[in-house]
Amino acid sequence: MEPNYYILLGAPGAGKGTQAAMLVLALGIPHVASGDLFREHLSKGTELGLLAKQYMDEGKLVPDDVTVRMVLDRLAQPDCAKGAILDGFPRTIAQAQALERALSANGQRIKAALYIKVSTEELLRRLGGRYTCKNCGAVYHIVFDPPKQPGVCDKCGGPLYQRADDTPETAKKRLDVYFQQTAPLIEYYRQQGLLREIDGEQPIEAVHAALLKVIRGE
Ligand code: ADP
Ligand code: ADP
Ligand code: ZN
Repeated sequence: MEPNYYILLGAPGAGKGTQAAMLVLALGIPHVASGDLFREHLSKGTELGLLAKQYMDEGKLVPDDVTVRMVLDRLAQPDCAKGAILDGFPRTIAQAQALERALSANGQRIKAALYIKVSTEELLRRLGGRYTCKNCGAVYHIVFDPPKQPGVCDKCGGPLYQRADDTPETAKKRLDVYFQQTAPLIEYYRQQGLLREIDGEQPIEAVHAALLKVIRGE
């Protein structure tokens, strides 16, 4: 069977990571998040991690060439043979084109670009209260999606922390970068007939149901 590659599109804080974790269970394909891959490199202290940190700390995008190489390497792993849920990648038109080239070289294509739409005001509220697990990358929100025990991951028991780039200043910068460099992908995928829009301001379970409905309608 042809692999199913889904792209989750949306601003920082839209709920891509939260929804991807739920889709992994529903669809049985892995979650490939470029930001998580960079954070893993950083926690291991690799050269790529240290390079990425300089950009991440400022809320800027890591250069396309290193980002594309890292994600394509991940997609070549055996667990991605049936497809993947891409989160945070592509983030530029150049990345989208590189992904398309790599897939089409194997006779593959993107199944759909799922755009989770959320207002800027709500994005800032979400980023400000986001807590992430140091161990497994699971995301929580102090008000909207709290862990059962404060500061402890429900899934693995790991410690929760606030990402350095979720401070109000860096979060605003990341939203600017999103509107300039990533938002054009919405039109790009619309023109290819691949865009599906989902109202991301509903509760987490309702967004999940809306995503599944769109995916199953494909
Ligand atoms: P969020 O979940 O808030 O959207 P991510 O975890 O996806 O944030 O990304 C965090 C940071 O990692 C970005 O601000 C950027 O510096 C870097 N990054 C992640 N994905 C990409 C990408 N596809 N291209 C360039 N930089 C990226
Ligand atoms: P992204 O990966 O797009 O940056 P996340 O999945 O990390 O977004 O979500 C950002 C923050 O918003 C997290 O704290 C998460 O718990 C919270 N969140 C996600 N989806 C919703 C929702 N539908 N309603 C309220 N809060 C949400
Ligand atoms: Zn965890």
